[in-house]
Amino acid sequence: MRKTAFIDSLRDHFGERAVVTDAAIIEPWLTDWRGRWTGRAAAMLEPGNTQEVAAMVSACAKAGVAMVPQGGNSSMVGGATPSANGDAVIFSMRRMNAIRSIDADARVAIVEAGVILQHLHDAASQKAMRFPLTLGAKGSATIGGLVSTNAGGTQVLRFGTMRGLILGLEAVLPDGSVHDGLAGLKKDNRGPSIDQMLIGAEGTLGIVTAARLQLAPAIVQRGTAFVGLASPRAALDLLYRLEAVTDRIEGFEILPHDSLVAAMDHLDTASPLGGEQPWYALIEATQEDADAEAPSALLERLLGQDLEAGRIADATIAASDAQSEALWRIRDSLSDAEKAYYGVATQHDVSVPVDAMPAFLEEVKQVVEAQWPGVMVSGFGHLGDGNIHLHVRAMKRGNDDWREQEAPAIERRVHDLVTAHGGSISAEHGIGQMKRDELARLGEPARLAFLRSIKAAFDPDGLMNPGKLIP
Ligand SMILES: Cc1cc2nc3c(=O)[nH]c(=O)nc-3n(C[C@H](O)[C@H](O)[C@H](O)COP(=O)(O)OP(=O)(O)OC[C@H]3O[C@@H](n4cnc5c(N)ncnc54)[C@H](O)[C@@H]3O)c2cc1C
Repeated sequence: MRKTAFIDSLRDHFGERAVVTDAAIIEPWLTDWRGRWTGRAAAMLEPGNTQEVAAMVSACAKAGVAMVPQGGNSSMVGGATPSANGDAVIFSMRRMNAIRSIDADARVAIVEAGVILQHLHDAASQKAMRFPLTLGAKGSATIGGLVSTNAGGTQVLRFGTMRGLILGLEAVLPDGSVHDGLAGLKKDNRGPSIDQMLIGAEGTLGIVTAARLQLAPAIVQRGTAFVGLASPRAALDLLYRLEAVTDRIEGFEILPHDSLVAAMDHLDTASPLGGEQPWYALIEATQEDADAEAPSALLERLLGQDLEAGRIADATIAASDAQSEALWRIRDSLSDAEKAYYGVATQHDVSVPVDAMPAFLEEVKQVVEAQWPGVMVSGFGHLGDGNIHLHVRAMKRGNDDWREQEAPAIERRVHDLVTAHGGSISAEHGIGQMKRDELARLGEPARLAFLRSIKAAFDPDGLMNPGKLIP
């Protein structure tokens, strides 16, 4: 059947609400969040329930039509953008946005794939619970996208990535069959887990329709500290000391002074500390038990000992929620602030083993700045997860052709160094279309063979999100 006839038949069957062909409605969903890729799609399918997803996938599979699963389209790697040849339909999951249940006693939520993260946060807090994963795109990222990218964020230190919060999944596999793992069995030894295969698969192995998720009690109070430090090594030692005596540290983000300078300019604010330090750590402790020591008192006690012993250079502790938020605003502003202050840069979401991070940061700065004189290498982010957002700022070398001419070679050099330190070229954003060639270049043979054979087994015709992730 010709493509247009196929789409007409889908529309006749599922109705205009579920099969969108209006180019003006589809258009905003054809370009990725960074604005680097624009694709084409003759239709955007918007199923309203799991049965519809299954019937639509089955029809596409029979007709040999490729499908691009899409949630909030906040992918940083072009993961949800169809290709330019217009072969695929977009499979938008945004209409499946019901929170099926929240059980505060069991600490479990069952949530459809199109639920926006912020909406889950709001619904959980109404039951004195929380879903302990958050990120900058929480107003648009959906549960299906978060599952499919195994998203991270700023609470991974204590709760892990999305993988650690998923108790079970419901999904439609590439042939249209439904996998129902929402019972969330604690023990299930019937062989390898389909759920685990789907987590981080970036829509290449099927379409997630719902998830059973772990909740945590709402926090009574939080405490936030901003600490001045000599180096990333000093920051890591501080984190280890804190973790040795408390399990209440939820966030531990680091930034160098040059990042703080950009944030102060961008936010038109002063430094939280009196003097300048080479590095800073933003630390968040929480309190879930009403009888426990207040988190700001906990931080004051622990950091006070470190200050007295000369192990940290300076520290301030937020005296109110408003002050906590002001400190977090510095962290959350960094991407925009750096772009505004330093201009164009290559940006790398990379990880290395936590203990290797200080040495990696030192080496990557020295190597890249020596090879490309005039650039500035700087990194900030989730030190406790071994995940840094590394920026190579063009600075004096910047010109209109920077992205085409120099950036690819710099990206490859950074990835080589990450690999040499035993790290990953994608810590939390995924591979998408942006890093597929680099995964093919640097992935170890066993990993590449595993990815290709899983894909061939689940999706032999290669119809699920073609051109993404699988090298
Ligand atoms: C400002 C900003 C800050 C961010 N911060 C972070 C961060 O701190 N940590 C982090 O991990 N990420 C971060 N991200 C990246 C992004 O928010 C996450 O990757 C998120 O999980 C994407 O969700 P989404 O619903 O927008 O998915 P989309 O962008 O729509 O899709 C992402 C991938 O998942 C697939 N997919 C989507 N829905 C489904 C489904 N139902 N079934 C199967 N596959 C599906 C798509 O095909 C695509 O491959 C950030 C993005 C922005 C814009």
